[in-house]
Amino acid sequence: MILRSTFKTLGALLVTSLIASAPALAEKTYTLKMAETWGPNYPILGETSRSMAAMAEKMSAGRLKITVDSSNKHKAPFGIFDMVKAGQYDMGHTASYYYKGKIPNAMFFTTVPFGMIASEQYAWFYYGDGMDLMQKVYQPHGLLSFPGGNTGNQMGGWFRKEINSLEDLKGIKMRTPGFAGEVMSELGVSVTNIPPGELYTALERGTIDALEWVGPALDLAMGFHQIAKYYYSGWQEPAAELQFLINEKVWSDLPEDLQEILRVAMRTAAYDMYAQSMHVSGQNWSKMKEDYPNVSAKTFPPEVIDALRDATDKLLAEAAAKDPLAKEIITSQAEYLKSIRKWTNISDKAYLDTVSVIEE
Ligand code: CA
Repeated sequence: MILRSTFKTLGALLVTSLIASAPALAEKTYTLKMAETWGPNYPILGETSRSMAAMAEKMSAGRLKITVDSSNKHKAPFGIFDMVKAGQYDMGHTASYYYKGKIPNAMFFTTVPFGMIASEQYAWFYYGDGMDLMQKVYQPHGLLSFPGGNTGNQMGGWFRKEINSLEDLKGIKMRTPGFAGEVMSELGVSVTNIPPGELYTALERGTIDALEWVGPALDLAMGFHQIAKYYYSGWQEPAAELQFLINEKVWSDLPEDLQEILRVAMRTAAYDMYAQSMHVSGQNWSKMKEDYPNVSAKTFPPEVIDALRDATDKLLAEAAAKDPLAKEIITSQAEYLKSIRKWTNISDKAYLDTVSVIEE
């Protein structure tokens, strides 16, 4: 008894003296303003920014607070890069490829057609050259960039007509943005970009014949399965990774322990989004099939895939020829993929091909 109470007293004394000796460190709080690309209460993507903020606050015992403004507040869903660079916001939650018009090399840190799947890409980011190369692209802008959550493999899109040949693609009107849109254009697809809110009507009225969005996790609420029957598997976004952006000055003003808390919160939230996307996609695909049994999952015929791959290679070669850093990133990704895919093929792919039971 005596021994225990002595320890208790010593412990209490120790805590008291620690608090007394470092009051400034214990009490100073930091509030960071974060802008997200997404609208208010956007499922999964918006949950990721909020869960990151909540984790950081909890892990820091309230010393690090992060407020989140959605696009209805800041009115610039694709202006996150500029706002964080200018210091108007301290942080952002967005996707790197939205800024390819401004910095072409930003495109490579979200996903690349025919590139790595999420497990491979996370390995490249955290254990390969991914983080260093991403920093090479963002550092000249006074920004730090971190992986911000993965959607998992995205679907190739909803089509009203079945695609059996390259000929079937020629002249069809499709909403598919970014680099994938450029690739599709090479194949004779008439590519348009329509705001998300107008997509359902555009598909219903035949303004477009096809569109790609994400996957069941986010497609179900959009209702595309009520109109288009064919749901094609993907080639264009095998592992779309979102992004947390931070102003470098804001980052360097944080004490080291809060930097580490923020780093861990971002990494945890990012990986958690991948798990959540997988979970919700599984649930939603079952629901789509249940409610609309005519919806069928398809894969593009080999001649279409070959043409898409050739067009992708051509555009990547053009990008590499224009800029040494683009070449360095493209080479790093290609070499990493070449090596890691050998492992994926004899592990996950072999397992799924031989053991998995597929139900129609
Ligand atoms: Ca997409």
